[in-house]
Amino acid sequence: MGLISDHAAGQPFMSNPIGEPDAASNGAYPCLILNADYQPLSYYPLSLWSWQDTVKAVFLDRVNVVDQYKFEVSSPSFKMRLPSVVSLKDYVTQNREPAFTRFNLFLRDGFECVYCGDGVELTFDHLIPRRLGGQTSWTNIVAACSKCNLKKGGRLPNEARMHPKVKPFKPNMHQLQAQGRRFPPNHLHESWLDYLYWDVELER
Ligand SMILES: [Zn+2]
Repeated sequence: MGLISDHAAGQPFMSNPIGEPDAASNGAYPCLILNADYQPLSYYPLSLWSWQDTVKAVFLDRVNVVDQYKFEVSSPSFKMRLPSVVSLKDYVTQNREPAFTRFNLFLRDGFECVYCGDGVELTFDHLIPRRLGGQTSWTNIVAACSKCNLKKGGRLPNEARMHPKVKPFKPNMHQLQAQGRRFPPNHLHESWLDYLYWDVELER
């Protein structure tokens, strides 16, 4: 955009971050993206933009700045505190179907084995084994720890006397989002908390 100048190659004005958290996992100064109704666009993964994308959206007039970091970027003609929370001007409807992915399946099952509740060495188990025609689908795949997976082997739940705590189902976006709220990201800026989880402490 040319509005923000890099003072030195590879050293774009980030040398004095005024005590803000490093946010290494999200890049520096990530911005929380709210829908036009001030709900996060997504909980999991939490909808975050890089500060570069955010600044661009501000200048394209697509977002309202809701809150800001203390940190300021500047060019000869322009000065701006980096946004920490923005809301979209146009509401984005969220009725798309969740993709059938490994991640979403683990998310549906809460990153726990459906048999024993353990969260380590998670794998996928076909409830009805493949050799008996079991499909790789939302309603036949569950998250299982490798121990339970091995124990169940190629047997039916009845044969193995192993039954999932919850019958596997095809989740909708709302259900996955609700699950996602239980697994907040490691880094939360304090300005995000008004828009996020009531039940999560700010990490410091
Ligand atoms: Zn298990």
